[in-house]
Amino acid sequence: MTADYRAQRRGLILNMICRFGPVSRTRLTALTGYRAASVGEITKELLTERLIVERGSSSVGHGRRRELLDINKAHLCALGIGFSAGCASLIAAQIDGVILRRVELPIAPGASRAELAGAILREAVKLLEALEGREVIGIGLCNPLFDPTAYRGNSILTSYLHFNDWIDLQLRPQLEAQTQLPVSIFSAVTLPALAERRFGAARGVDNFLCIELSNGLGSSICCSGHVVAGAGGVAGELGHTVVDASDRGAPLCYCGKAGCVERTSAFPALAADILAALDSGVSSSLSAFYDRAQPLRVQDIRRALAEGDQMCTYYVRRAAGRLGIAIANAVNLLNPELVVLFGFMTGLGDVFLRQLETSIRENVLALSGGFRLRVSDTLERDLPLGAVAELFSAYLRVADYSWVYDLPDSGADGESKEPESDQMEGSE
Ligand SMILES: [Zn+2]
Repeated sequence: MTADYRAQRRGLILNMICRFGPVSRTRLTALTGYRAASVGEITKELLTERLIVERGSSSVGHGRRRELLDINKAHLCALGIGFSAGCASLIAAQIDGVILRRVELPIAPGASRAELAGAILREAVKLLEALEGREVIGIGLCNPLFDPTAYRGNSILTSYLHFNDWIDLQLRPQLEAQTQLPVSIFSAVTLPALAERRFGAARGVDNFLCIELSNGLGSSICCSGHVVAGAGGVAGELGHTVVDASDRGAPLCYCGKAGCVERTSAFPALAADILAALDSGVSSSLSAFYDRAQPLRVQDIRRALAEGDQMCTYYVRRAAGRLGIAIANAVNLLNPELVVLFGFMTGLGDVFLRQLETSIRENVLALSGGFRLRVSDTLERDLPLGAVAELFSAYLRVADYSWVYDLPDSGADGESKEPESDQMEGSE
């Protein structure tokens, strides 16, 4: 048997165990069509390497039991490193997306990159020490598409190319030298979709959109099973699509245009509308508990909404209506079967989410209307999880075995998964 053929059979068994585990050798034999002896030999090798484990047994009648095999979730790990405004995050995660450790490193404005690299290297080494005894397959670095050491509010006008070059040419080789692990770089544009597809609400879904609702409005797109980055790596900039071109005197978005949905309806715009109304004397239950010296938070608005506050209800519904139009435009373009919403604005609760869903569904073409809408909390702080997802997909060579993940769930020792609801709901 050639080495290639052997590697292919081993890869298939490993992916079958990932897809169907806990699963018996008998079922693996039936699923793969390989001889029972070959399945026994390959699974023995995988057990010796601790990539899989024996996990319980299933009854096959007459008091006989079959041992079940599962991927060794606690053994296979990877590190993910991401950047947000003012912060670098490092996570250590298992192959099933469970985050074992998380470190948040504050980035001071104007921090030197040498200091930042030093701090990241120290924390990465500490994380690896904590994972001793497990197999760490690599490190995934998220390219943030902005420069977190020069971040001033929403500023895509600040060139980030230097920072991206620094990640590629400085941080990556230093990390590789220090940890002796392979380091891969992934664009922030693709990571939400990659994380949701492997660990979150979009498992098994080939056409979906992830929409971030926070200080900005971004999207991450999966078309026919391919996560899309675009020619220049900036696909999905939904926030800078114009939804209101009627007001020529409107203040400009930081991207240089008027009427961008982000400029009028992402969280900073919503907060500014509410604060301006408060300052102009509009009555609101916010006045009773909100300290005007503090920044307005999602929790404050949510509390006012729960108290039936008319002013907050008006602005939240208006923002949700506009965001919904932008999302509906994306749905019309791409015809997804699932739209995953994430980001801290989803914490505004039912008043926001209901209006958002109404607005999306009112503005999509009827022919594209058969999509599901889900709220995910997988991604709130976990973009590095997308990098980890991609490392494991490469490790398992999932692309070669993608058909395995489309196989139906029924089988001798498979337990059927719970059916998904069509309504908007949170995911685990
Ligand atoms: Zn804009």
